[in-house]
Amino acid sequence: MFDLMSQDKVQELHFSSNGPLKAIIALHNLRQGPALGGCRFIRYQNETQAIDDAIRLAKGMSYKAALAGVPQGGGKSVIMMPEGDFDRAELFSLFGKFINSLNGSYITAMDSGTSVSDMDIIRRQTPFVASSSNIGDPSPTTAKGIVLGLAEAVEQAFNQSVQGLTVAIQGLGHVGMVLAESLHQQGAKIIVCDVDEQKVDYAVKHFDAKAVSVNEIYSQQCDVFSPCGLGLSINDNTIKQLKCKVIAGCANNQLAHDGLGQQLHDLGILYTPDYVINSGGLIYASSNFRGLSLDKIDHQVLKLKDTLNKIFILSKQKNIPTQVIADEMAEHVLYGNDTTMQEAI
Ligand code: NAD
Repeated sequence: MFDLMSQDKVQELHFSSNGPLKAIIALHNLRQGPALGGCRFIRYQNETQAIDDAIRLAKGMSYKAALAGVPQGGGKSVIMMPEGDFDRAELFSLFGKFINSLNGSYITAMDSGTSVSDMDIIRRQTPFVASSSNIGDPSPTTAKGIVLGLAEAVEQAFNQSVQGLTVAIQGLGHVGMVLAESLHQQGAKIIVCDVDEQKVDYAVKHFDAKAVSVNEIYSQQCDVFSPCGLGLSINDNTIKQLKCKVIAGCANNQLAHDGLGQQLHDLGILYTPDYVINSGGLIYASSNFRGLSLDKIDHQVLKLKDTLNKIFILSKQKNIPTQVIADEMAEHVLYGNDTTMQEAI
């Protein structure tokens, strides 16, 4: 276990086995402040899988928080969904007590399998919750960051605004639909797909979008490809189909493996690191938890543009992929061990 922790530089792992609750809280890095990250409630095949997931996700949150400029560390919790019947309210109440026992070093939020009502149950046991019903949906703030970050990437790649360019959007959910509307208003042409036909119809009707199937979206002739559905959208199969010059979208973990970053770089496709462009949601959750006003949140989201600009410039200067630069910048904040990054941040 300690080897696993030191390999990924995880500072703390906490376990709770209490009635129906089997939960793990991974605190990856607390240098910037208390760890903030969602609670995943899914079925795991075994404990090892659950621990690996908690560690991987907590590490991702550390990197995201480091570049979002929020005073939070990276953490994540996973609850192993019990087999058979269980009392959901009891389970999340016990989980709230578990969080409270950590005295604020971990702040939870929603993730796959958890809902606002689960968060409200947790909130009755502990104040360390950043997405209960009184805090609201972070998606509009994430969408603001995506609109800004996409514009920054376009400026870098084409030296112009999005007006007249074609953007292919994969997934018209809480973020993708807002992006579609904004791009339409800015004079971009949009191509869309979603597994939900109603959402596609809405975009066609209101934003003059061209609809394609979920398999056709990758091979569209476009300037920007925007993954806003599920993760791992760029993989060994889909990368061969891309005809864009920029990738900029909100989905988490867009690259199926690290080697794809180098391949995109070699192909001359500007990849906007996912955890930087989609950090608006984290900024919203952190700022709300700390009681900051909406204009302070917007101001912080605006800074995401500058961070991306630095990443794009350094990537060009050093001729290395953007996501490698982003990781190096984040590691500098987390560990302060790369002096070449000092100036960049
Ligand atoms: P959402 O669930 O509202 O939307 C996802 C959309 O993708 C849905 O409309 C769904 O039907 C569609 N979809 C699913 N599979 C698809 C496929 N194969 N092809 C095309 N469309 C498909 O989610 P969201 O809140 O808009 O977030 C989208 C992504 O961004 C997720 O990966 C999420 O983890 C990530 N993200 C979201 C936020 C946020 O604040 N909402 C913050 C950071 C990251």
